[in-house]
Amino acid sequence: MSIRGSKRKSPAGTARREPSARIAHRGLPAGFFLGACLLLVPGASAQRTPLKPGWNKFSPQDDISLGKRAATDAQKQLPLCNAPKVDAYLTQLGTRLVQKLPTGGVQYPFEFHCVNDKAINAFALPGGYVFINRGAIEAADNEAQLAGVMAHELSHVALRHGTNQATKAMLAQTGLGIFGAVFGDTTGGALLTELGSFTAGGVLLRYSRTAESQADVMGTQVLYDAGYDPRAMAQFFEKLETETKGKNPPEFFSDHPNPEHRVERVDEEVEKLGGAPPGAKRDSAEFEAIKREVLALPVVKKSMPGVAGPVAPPASPSRNFWEYQANSYTLKYPDNWKKYPDSDGGGVSFAPQGGFIDDGSGHSSLAYGLIIGVSQAKGNSNGGNTLSGATSQVIQDLQKSNPSMKITRQGEHLRVNGQPGLSTYLTNVSPAGGQETDWVITVLRPEGLVYFVCVAPQSAYDNYDKTFSSILDSVRFTR
Ligand SMILES: [Zn+2]
Repeated sequence: MSIRGSKRKSPAGTARREPSARIAHRGLPAGFFLGACLLLVPGASAQRTPLKPGWNKFSPQDDISLGKRAATDAQKQLPLCNAPKVDAYLTQLGTRLVQKLPTGGVQYPFEFHCVNDKAINAFALPGGYVFINRGAIEAADNEAQLAGVMAHELSHVALRHGTNQATKAMLAQTGLGIFGAVFGDTTGGALLTELGSFTAGGVLLRYSRTAESQADVMGTQVLYDAGYDPRAMAQFFEKLETETKGKNPPEFFSDHPNPEHRVERVDEEVEKLGGAPPGAKRDSAEFEAIKREVLALPVVKKSMPGVAGPVAPPASPSRNFWEYQANSYTLKYPDNWKKYPDSDGGGVSFAPQGGFIDDGSGHSSLAYGLIIGVSQAKGNSNGGNTLSGATSQVIQDLQKSNPSMKITRQGEHLRVNGQPGLSTYLTNVSPAGGQETDWVITVLRPEGLVYFVCVAPQSAYDNYDKTFSSILDSVRFTR
């Protein structure tokens, strides 16, 4: 059960999409192009899009300590290339880009690591710990494209998207009441521990499309300032998209969802910068040598959950319960489960140790446990239609991020703390292997549609059914 991809509010500081003011210039002499830009596009000359990190409850120092902890885990869990020359090359290239990265004066301890994974992907943890899969190096046609991927990752660091997401998870719903105070009593330090105990990628690496677009724009600026062809990053993404059409999308796009009009937005920025600078760097002999070395590295087989054999199931849910107090409700959950803030947009999950399964590339999905979220119900509040309409919307959103999810039973009425609710059962592919059952309960409250998603593999569902019912029975709406 994955909860990626649902619609969320945009963060503050979002890059404004400007009306496209493009002129046909390809094929014109460089001098003419510059003149045309200045004459025909008033205001577009050298007005690069200003970008700043969004609202963040964490300090840059928190980014560094969180990132460092997650990087230590990542280095233990991921197969590294163990190729000193490759790491040295990535560090050298990364350092050149970092010199042009606007970090607002913060000195991040940048590190660059090659991961022995053929999947085309790369990720950067808060604080500047950058991991680049061999697959990304192998797929790049030239140094500028690899620099483009790295500039994009470094922009996530400079814009502090990881902890911005975490902040949004804490605060996005404040106005709606329910989850604003879920985390309201949590001090930064406690939350840090909470996040740190989460697997490396879980909370910190799932970016919104807005964050992706910002990283594209800043990445383009960094490429330009470092003397590279600024179109290289967009060209790389375009190439990934066309080459893999009809096949599974490259992993890069699951960590970095494709924003709308990606290439057009980057082209716009390139024009604002005045086009590719003359003599812009595209390739180097060094890159070609490193790519040959990477291609010759031994291949490490990836262990994927559900493919590489059974993952040890978590311990059965305890019959002793802890109380959890949110702003507008309380509930009780097994005392051998933990509470996790959700990555995106506010919400909370409860899961046993091992309830979240990480596929080793930074995604974690819930295999055993409960997710609680709130979604803004549409329409008026005159009873049944709104509940069922809002429920369908939530189910559709879940299906968007879980394409194999299918409804098996729906429309049954029940009560949660005396309030009318709807029950829906679905099946989905379990990250633990085989099929899972998802039991979704929805209740309309003043703050929106509150949904509870109970998740367990089909084979183990009987062990969890009672626990889920007990949790729901314990819900008390407090206002
Ligand atoms: Zn990204």
